[in-house]
Amino acid sequence: MFFELPKLPYKADELNPVISPLTMEYHYGKHHQAYVTNLNNLINGTEFAKMNLEEIVMKSDGAIFNNAAQVWNHTFYFHSFKPKGGGAPKGPLASAIDSEWGSFDNFKKEFSNAALTVFGSGWAWLVKDKDGKLSITKESNAGTPVKNGLTAILTFDVWEHAYYLDYQNKRADYIAALWDIVDWDIVSARF
Ligand code: MN
Repeated sequence: MFFELPKLPYKADELNPVISPLTMEYHYGKHHQAYVTNLNNLINGTEFAKMNLEEIVMKSDGAIFNNAAQVWNHTFYFHSFKPKGGGAPKGPLASAIDSEWGSFDNFKKEFSNAALTVFGSGWAWLVKDKDGKLSITKESNAGTPVKNGLTAILTFDVWEHAYYLDYQNKRADYIAALWDIVDWDIVSARF
């Protein structure tokens, strides 16, 4: 199928100053768009042209996997935020986090540390396995829990392109700020 850049559920300037309009212009408008464009070009005339995005992620490797997974990861990331977000998860997700990490604050600490310690480009994930058990994972480059049969709940993109315009080398400051825009209604519903 032909892929398009998904529309954002907020205006490009509404997450400022956590994510500035300039970062949105580059991260969403250029990087995310480039993964979509590359994917369309790469699958044209191949067996992957008839598949949906998840099928391509599961069945491909190399350049097609990298671009398909990055389209999936970025769409998931950009649909996890809202202006004046933050706070804490709700309902069953809140209970599951408490039972796995003791408290939401402790979970935030563990997740932030995972995001901070991804070496080079990659992603930190909160995932659920088929038994409903939560865990925090780290993926390099285009790595995605979709490929491992896990359900993604939350992700922080820690590629430098996600934060360098706003935070330069201070990845920890970017991570700390992201919690203020998480849309816990959307994220909790994924559990
Ligand atoms: Mn990114």
